[in-house]
Amino acid sequence: MPGRPHRPMRPLWLCRRCGAPWPCGPARLALLVEYQGNRAALLLHLADLRREAVEQLTVLNPSSPPGDLRNRFLSWVRAPR
Ligand SMILES: [Zn+2]
Repeated sequence: MPGRPHRPMRPLWLCRRCGAPWPCGPARLALLVEYQGNRAALLLHLADLRREAVEQLTVLNPSSPPGDLRNRFLSWVRAPR
């Protein structure tokens, strides 16, 4: 598929391609495909990114910290069936 990948724009953590808060829908799908069969590695990867996002967003806007972003970064990774 042509076009730029859906990657996060730091330190805003918005998608470079579609502008949605990252990980946007297409980014989530791409990650699920990339880490297919390796959910544990995907969760570790996302946990690292979440920490980074929380730090950067807090620096960016100290009066309105982003919360723990757990839903945004982790809740959509489903357990394997
Ligand atoms: Zn996107």
